[in-house]
Formats: sequence, structure tokens, C-alpha cells
Amino acid sequence: MKAPVTAEPLALGTVVISLLVLGLKFLAWWLTGSVALYSDALESLVNVGGAALAWIAVRYAQRPADLGHPFGHHKAEYFSAVAEGIMIVVAALLIVHQALMAFSGPDLSDLGPVGLAVSGLAMVVNLFWARVLMTWARRHHSPALAASGRHLMSDVWTSVGVLAGLLLALLTGWSILDPLLAIIVALNILREGLLVIRSSVGGLMDSAADPVEQAQIETIIHAAANGALQVHDIRTRRAGQALFAEFHLVVAGTMTVAASHEICDRVEMALQAQIPGITTTIHVEPDSKLEPNGLNPA
Ligand code: ZN
Ligand code: ZN
Repeated sequence: MKAPVTAEPLALGTVVISLLVLGLKFLAWWLTGSVALYSDALESLVNVGGAALAWIAVRYAQRPADLGHPFGHHKAEYFSAVAEGIMIVVAALLIVHQALMAFSGPDLSDLGPVGLAVSGLAMVVNLFWARVLMTWARRHHSPALAASGRHLMSDVWTSVGVLAGLLLALLTGWSILDPLLAIIVALNILREGLLVIRSSVGGLMDSAADPVEQAQIETIIHAAANGALQVHDIRTRRAGQALFAEFHLVVAGTMTVAASHEICDRVEMALQAQIPGITTTIHVEPDSKLEPNGLNPA
């Protein structure tokens, strides 16, 4: 089986990047005194925790299968992803809290271009790393890194909203725009957090492979199962980088065990060659078990 690529270096990189961004954001707040930038920095504090958690989860998930966990430890990543979603929601609530307090007396007297530029730099760093994480996570099926990437992206939108609000406040002199924008941004982050939780819980609930992968699996079986009469009841289950597939393989009742096993091995090897991390279980049946709706091998 092709060994899945490890997510660990990227997870560790996320810890380093989020510490850097945290430093930049507190600097921006210190330079400006803006409540919006303060809430932005608070959200980054949550990011550091999330990144550390994702790193631990990714390390645990890549441990090989053992007696206690014969199917592997891949699902550890979903726990980190759910926790990351909860952290995003908490960050959003913190921002709302800060913004509500700031409505009483926003003070933008210290606001200047340097603080805004520092905040802008933090945003660019986040945007770059979020793209790296999300691209990699999609390709290699890492729910923990996907959640980290979406977390950083929500951070980018926070910064965009905050910077826009501060610029408008500077131009118009309406300092109320600072906390107002912070609340709008918080609502967007809240929504993102709930979405991350929903997709991660889906993984814990044994979601099927995505439709593209399911189609790929059917194509491979169709091409490799010649000699068999039919394949039916294909079921798939995604667990992080691991993918499990099982199905019934109908052969002539008179076929020898050795011959039908040869077909099984051929199909298993074809699947493993084209889909990294897949584990296949095949149930062989005689022709009395043909079903009306099955997949006919080539
Ligand atoms: Zn069957
Ligand atoms: Zn075998």
C-alpha cells in the first residue's frame, strides 16, 4: 500500500506561523489602541491553541494500527477539527463581547498607518498559510489541517473587516464604525465555526467517500473484476487519510476458491495502486446471489 504523506511538518508550521501572526497582531493593537484590532489579536490567541491541538492530533493519527485500534488512529484528526470549530465559535463570541464594550466610548486617537500596516502584514501571512494548508489538506485528506486552514481563513476575513472598518473610521471620523465592523466580522466567524464543526462531526459519523472517489472506485472495480459476474453493495467509509471499501463479488458457483481469490487480489491491488490509503474487504458469493442492480465487470 502507498504510505500516506505525513501532515506533521505542516501542522508544526502552523504553530510557528500562528505565533508569528499573534505577535504582529498584538503589536498592531499596541500601536493603535483599536478594539477591533484587539479582538483580532484575541482570535489569534485561539489560533495558537488550535494549531497546537492539530499538531498533537496529526501526530497521534499517523500512528500505525495496533491491537487496540486495528483500523488505525486516523479519526484522532476529527477530534482536533471539532475542537478547532468550537474555538472559532468562542473567538467570535469574544469579539462580540469586546465590541459591545467598545460602543460606550471608542477611542481612535492613536490610529495611524503603521498599526494598520502591521495588521495588514499579519493578514497576508495568514492568507498565504491558509491557502497552503487547505490545498494540502484537500489533496491528502487531513481533516485537522483542513480545519486549521479554514480557521486561518476566518482570521483573514476578520482582518479584512477590521481594516476596512478602521480605514472608514479614519476617513469619516465616525469611530463607532470600529466596534460595528467588529460585530459583523464576529457573526461571519461564528458561521464559519459552525460549518467546521458540522463537517468534522460528519467524519466521526463514518461518512462515505466523496462522490468523485466513489465513481473512481466503481470504475476501477469495473475494469479489474473481469471473471466475476457482478459486484454489488459497495460501501465506503472515510477516516482521515484512510479509506475503507467493502462489497460483494458474485462469481459462478462452480468457480474454485483459488480462482475467485485471484479476482479479489487483482481488484484489491488495482484499488490500492490508484487510491492511496484504501483498505478493501470483499465478500464472495455464488450466482444465486445476483441482484437486479449491480455493477457488471468489463
Ligand atoms: Zn450480496
Ligand atoms: Zn487473500
